[in-house]
Amino acid sequence: MQAQNICVLGSTGSIGVNTLDVIARHPESLSVYALSAYHRIEQLAEQARQTGAKVVIVPTDQARARFLQAWRGGPARPEIRVGAQALADTVADAPVTTVMAAIVGAAGLPAALAAARAGKRVLLANKEALVAAGGLFMRTVRESGAELLPIDSEHNAIFQCLPQAGRATAPTEPAKGVRRLLLTASGGPFRTTALDQLASVTPDQACAHPNWAMGRKISVDSATMLNKGLEVIEAHWLFAMPVNRIQVVVHPQSMVHSMVEYEDGSVLAQLGQPDMRTPIAYGLGFPERIASGVGLLALTALGRLDFEEPDFERFPCLRLSFHALRAGQAACVALNAANEIAVERFLKQQIRYTEIAGVIEASLDRISGLPASALDSLDEVLALDAHTRSIASEFCLLRT
Ligand code: NAD
Ligand code: MG
Repeated sequence: MQAQNICVLGSTGSIGVNTLDVIARHPESLSVYALSAYHRIEQLAEQARQTGAKVVIVPTDQARARFLQAWRGGPARPEIRVGAQALADTVADAPVTTVMAAIVGAAGLPAALAAARAGKRVLLANKEALVAAGGLFMRTVRESGAELLPIDSEHNAIFQCLPQAGRATAPTEPAKGVRRLLLTASGGPFRTTALDQLASVTPDQACAHPNWAMGRKISVDSATMLNKGLEVIEAHWLFAMPVNRIQVVVHPQSMVHSMVEYEDGSVLAQLGQPDMRTPIAYGLGFPERIASGVGLLALTALGRLDFEEPDFERFPCLRLSFHALRAGQAACVALNAANEIAVERFLKQQIRYTEIAGVIEASLDRISGLPASALDSLDEVLALDAHTRSIASEFCLLRT
């Protein structure tokens, strides 16, 4: 494996921690250059001490003071940079070869885009960046010659099953011979819950995913299946695939991470334990395969694999996502922004689980009346994102 100097954005999150776990298994070729966190600054200080990071990025001067307080020696103290601009600047630093984009939400877009613009190897976990600005992001990758490796397990699986698994570029048309992409979905914790009980489910119940341990926002998204909707949009951009050739298949065991269906009737699937260290190791090691710490898949113990059609009545957020992708980029920006607000309010117990879809739908309706704008710059995307957040916040207030 080639030596890499890595910047982990969102290092204290679920993906961030798994990334550091894989990096630590390969000290001969992988080193940490920079780490960033928004909360849990003490954990960031501990990570910086263990990895010997040269730079850390924190959101505020207050967080900087907390970092200094938490620093307990070890190798030389890292340089501390402050604010969102520092994230975008650091990914472009000359020593950085590789950026793990693992900030949650559209907040991660500017830095992920900056990494693409700087022509780095970009390991993209932050799906919201592609949902909000897929066209701009992919164009930037093409122009800069950056290497783009999907980390979301479904997209990583599809990448592995495509004929050009050897090419980490941004395609402009679907891979030859491919008929459809089949995205698997676990169905989350409420796949079989009685529909009339959904209005009273709690944030902790929504975050108790049957197969994956993840951050709270993506866990709620998995419960509503808005996560699968974001992934359909993500797959559309990553693989230049029209929406009518992307199919969602519910697969409760989460062992088949996704599939590619070919013209000749072949279906290729990637299987493995539901552990994000596999796709992370794939991205870091690419094109080689490296150890990830993930155990074997015990197929005979598993016994069976089930597949079902998604239920659009139970999961209205999935229907809204297909609608947004067909409606265009403004609707995708709004879908994501309204969802981020609705999920935040649900996690604070200010709205009910079943109101998330309503907030998104009402916000989509409201922005559909806006005059169309090209949305081909980061500023335009961020302006619509902010506008939708204020609309969605109003709708949340109406429901409390
Ligand atoms: P998480 O909530 O566990 O961690 C998020 C990280 O981002 C933390 O380090 C946090 O400090 C930082 N952060 C939060 N808000 C920020 C802001 N406004 N500015 C800068 N940094 C901020 O989230 P996660 O589960 O690790 O998910 C990260 C991303 O990866 C998401 O986009 C998610 O959809 C995607 N993803 C996660 C998984 C998973 O298994 N967790 C799987 C596939 C994709
Ligand atoms: Mg996924």
